[in-house]
Amino acid sequence: MTPSAYIDRHSDDLLALLRRLVAIDTTNPPGLSYDAITALLTKEVAAAGLAARRFAIPAALLKKSLPPEQHAYPRFNVLGKLAAPGAKKTVHFNAHYDVVPVSGTWRHGSPFSGAVDGGWIYGRGTSDMKGSIASLLLALTALRATRTAPKLNVEVSFTADEETDSVLGAGWLVDHAPIRPDYAIVMEGGELNQVCCGHNGTLWLEVTVHGRAAHGSTPEKGINALEKMSALVLALGDYARRLEKRTFVTPEGKTMRPTLNVGGEFSAGPGGKINTVPSLARFTIDRRVLAVENHPAAERDLRAFLAAAARNIPGCKITVTKISENFSCFSKPTHPFFSAMAGCVTRVRKQKTVFNVSTGFNDMHFFASHLKIPTLGYGPGGEDYHAIDERAKVKELIASAKIYAELLTTFSG
Ligand SMILES: [Zn+2]
Repeated sequence: MTPSAYIDRHSDDLLALLRRLVAIDTTNPPGLSYDAITALLTKEVAAAGLAARRFAIPAALLKKSLPPEQHAYPRFNVLGKLAAPGAKKTVHFNAHYDVVPVSGTWRHGSPFSGAVDGGWIYGRGTSDMKGSIASLLLALTALRATRTAPKLNVEVSFTADEETDSVLGAGWLVDHAPIRPDYAIVMEGGELNQVCCGHNGTLWLEVTVHGRAAHGSTPEKGINALEKMSALVLALGDYARRLEKRTFVTPEGKTMRPTLNVGGEFSAGPGGKINTVPSLARFTIDRRVLAVENHPAAERDLRAFLAAAARNIPGCKITVTKISENFSCFSKPTHPFFSAMAGCVTRVRKQKTVFNVSTGFNDMHFFASHLKIPTLGYGPGGEDYHAIDERAKVKELIASAKIYAELLTTFSG
């Protein structure tokens, strides 16, 4: 039997495993049930024939990296390895197992039901991205059951915290885990006939404007932080218009532009009153960084603009702090790894493949930018990510399993 025929015959196994994964509520924040899900995943990776290991994040590192309200929630990452006879290169498959919080009323009752209905499987995490985990595990099981040797060594990681910042998940993995990949597939970002070759990044800053308080009846004695902030926000409008002129045309022909949004919770700080000159004002900047932009350069440029703009506003003193960031990444899809994957997608789905760039970020940048290896995004995906009635299409779960198996049996690097 071929791996593909095996996958067709065992689609129920894939759905049963996905249902078990979805039933374990791994909502992040705060990071629920990570112990339970990684225990199950470690067992499943071993059952698929890989050497499996679970890594617990040391308590000291956890306390340093997470806010206090999350200190009681342990973090784990799962790693599996399979040496293929004669293979020279190694491919690394990655998925995150955490999910975003749920709200609202779901069509099938519980958001963790895994109900199958009309060719779709419903539940939080079905599309983002426990479905990818179930697809990959069936692909590996199919190779083992049909005694089909992969042409690449295989590494598999299931990691924490992608829905927050991945610092203790994929971020920890690329720095600390015993991995040596030549290629990486992060199993989201590209789906259907689209193979993802990069994603945008985010840079989130908070700007505090410092003024001087005075009585509201004598405003000339103070420095009004709110007025200074308004002038600064207007100046940022010019900067946003300048950014708009930078364009990037993706391999599929889509034009993308960097963006900047000012927002946040505006506050005059403690002591803000109608009859007081505000001594403090605060806002945030959400800068979306293009896949091809240099992230540190983008930050330097924005900080320099803010400093210069503040200097041009008399009495405007600011401090700028970083709230968080996610690096962008882009791999030119000219490497044979990309054409091999596109070929597999085309053969299995019988549809021409295109290379896309994802507007949202995922964990690809840890492999593409940090490890500097060819990295693509591909998985079964689905509908209503992060929303009510999140679901994955059964047909696509099966197709992704076949595509992963096809790549492992046809591409040797
Ligand atoms: Zn995701």
